[in-house]
Amino acid sequence: MKDIPNLFGSMVFNDSVMRARLPKDIYKALKKTMSQSTHLELEVANVVANAMKDWAVEKGATHFTHWFQPMTGITAEKHDSFISPAGDGKIIMEFSGKELVRGEPDASSFPSGGLRATFEARGYTVWDITSYAFIKDGTLCIPTAFCSYSGEALDKKTPLLRSMEAIDKQAMRILKLFGNTDARRVITTVGPEQEYFLIDKEVYLKRPDLVYTGRTLFGARPPKGQELDDHYFGCIKPRVSAFMKELEEELWKLGVYAKTKHNEVAPAQHELAPVFTTTNIATDHNQLTMELMKSVANKHGLACLLHEKPFAGVNGSGKHNNWSISTDTGINLLEPGETPHDDAQFLLFLVSVIKAVDDYQNLLRVSVANAGNDHRLGANEAPPAIVSIFLGNELTEILESLENDTDYHNMERDQMEIGVTALPHFPKDTTDRNRTSPFAFTGNKFEFRMLGSTFSISGPNIVLNTVVAEALRQFADILEKSTDFKSDLASLIKNTFHKHKRIIFNGNNYSDEWVTEAKRRGLSNLKTTVASLPEFVSQKSIELFTRHHVFSESELHSRYEILMEGYCKTLHIEALTMVDMVKREIIPACVAYQNELADLLGRKRAWGEYDASLEDHLLSSISKLSSCLLKKLTVLESALLESKEERDILSQATFYRDKVFGSMSELRLIVDELETLVANKHWPLPTYAEMLFSVI
Ligand code: ADP
Ligand code: MG
Repeated sequence: MKDIPNLFGSMVFNDSVMRARLPKDIYKALKKTMSQSTHLELEVANVVANAMKDWAVEKGATHFTHWFQPMTGITAEKHDSFISPAGDGKIIMEFSGKELVRGEPDASSFPSGGLRATFEARGYTVWDITSYAFIKDGTLCIPTAFCSYSGEALDKKTPLLRSMEAIDKQAMRILKLFGNTDARRVITTVGPEQEYFLIDKEVYLKRPDLVYTGRTLFGARPPKGQELDDHYFGCIKPRVSAFMKELEEELWKLGVYAKTKHNEVAPAQHELAPVFTTTNIATDHNQLTMELMKSVANKHGLACLLHEKPFAGVNGSGKHNNWSISTDTGINLLEPGETPHDDAQFLLFLVSVIKAVDDYQNLLRVSVANAGNDHRLGANEAPPAIVSIFLGNELTEILESLENDTDYHNMERDQMEIGVTALPHFPKDTTDRNRTSPFAFTGNKFEFRMLGSTFSISGPNIVLNTVVAEALRQFADILEKSTDFKSDLASLIKNTFHKHKRIIFNGNNYSDEWVTEAKRRGLSNLKTTVASLPEFVSQKSIELFTRHHVFSESELHSRYEILMEGYCKTLHIEALTMVDMVKREIIPACVAYQNELADLLGRKRAWGEYDASLEDHLLSSISKLSSCLLKKLTVLESALLESKEERDILSQATFYRDKVFGSMSELRLIVDELETLVANKHWPLPTYAEMLFSVI
């Protein structure tokens, strides 16, 4: 039996290691910088770096790296060893404060959306003191923010940290108004649930589409999919279980609170959920989780698929972003309180989220937009592209009774003097279990369910933190001027709910009626990435993000460019992969099988005494489909040629969505039909069934 408590965090330079290894004054100075974002003196950094290096070398590390999160959505690292020549042909192991605090990687090959010309290749990585350093694969990894020479953010961490500061500032204003003097900081917390698929590595390697694009571009439906619901929460197969155990151990070593694991709805689909933590750390940890899922799977002869839609016709994978706000003293501000006083504060924070989500539906939609998620949102397995909030009947009724000045019918408690009804202590279980809502209140947190499985959770949380900061700012502006706090507070809660209740929907989000109803309510329904991304650079978005110093206008434009380009590139690679597979694998298979059929048909006819209708029928169907295949291939190839014409980025992305993707879908239909006719021994690709049921 392994000693899990000792294993946990054993590869992390965490608080207890710091306390044990740093001189007291240095430890104190570092903690002060961590909690109050004060400047870190170089002398302090030098001592910390040396202690880190000694610790890392004892654990077998030889290198260090500034670990950062460029706009590629995955992490980046460049390793330097600790060795330094000692003059006598020997070396010493060295690591300075300067090396710890700042790095200068060549930034020219990371997406910058025009923020950094190639001649200004320099970028800086700067130590993020709020996330602990850790050892991964013999390298000391230092979490860092990544910015350009002129200080513009080139990564996913910098704006996230800025958004956390923004919500901290505004939420503290509110807490002060409620007379809270203990809290020094307000932080947001996140627990992301991660879905993924596991298939056998050998099968995976035989599918160029999976290898190059992460999803199957072809594949006829298997005779059995998820119809029987026999996979969800089913018992975990031994091979998968061995993978999960190793993954958990590796994550625990890195201080990731991996907690829950189970099978998901689709065959070969699984989920991992950690215990929640500070948003910044949760983001780093989720990146590590995705990376380790892939590498541990590989060790077990498996391939981990993180794509949003690896298989058409079976559920895709998402990520549920459980989000809340709490004080540094550990009070969850979205936890309904036991006392009327807490209730008023809770209700104010609750309506701030309702207002924020309603006011900025489009930005939340943008934060979950990518080519992969376009296959999921609105496709009957994930929430539709319409953002709405599930509150549950109980809370909705409480807010409605406040709005209408009526008594809440379940109320046995006293009316509060400020007119805000004391909430009954409702059991957590009654609130959740609307699985169709994109944004559900689940007792003491909100669960944002529109994220795709490959996403860095940074983007959605940047938006969430900032839009709620804005709602709180508006509230604080009103309440700070108030001369009658209690009555103004009551009307603020009431009016906010009244104005924004259209965003609340407790029914079935997957139904067609909801789409009509949402339209009637004036809610947005931005169906695709291309339709939603322009919202990111709207005047409203620019005003919001610049006001809270989360993105500058040029940073917003650069991200818009990067996201649009990413969309086009994804589709371009998918289309090229399709063309390649059709030409080099599908067509030869069709030819070979037709050849075989024609041979037999010829011989049967020559002999004259056998019925050849089967061969005749098959050969004619396959010939017809094959010539159709050629036509569709030509259409796709000419769309690809046309894509080379000069266009602005929005027209280019629209072209990819309508023309390129349209031709890809038509080509796929023909190939999938051929798959049902061509003999297995000729078909070059593992079938859906072979992939989905490859792990036994
Ligand atoms: P449910 O059953 O409603 O999905 P769980 O208790 O299983 O809820 O939690 C799901 C995820 O939500 C877990 O990752 C958990 O750590 C996270 N979570 C719980 N409380 C909070 C919170 N206050 N802030 C952020 N995430 C939270
Ligand atoms: Mg959940």
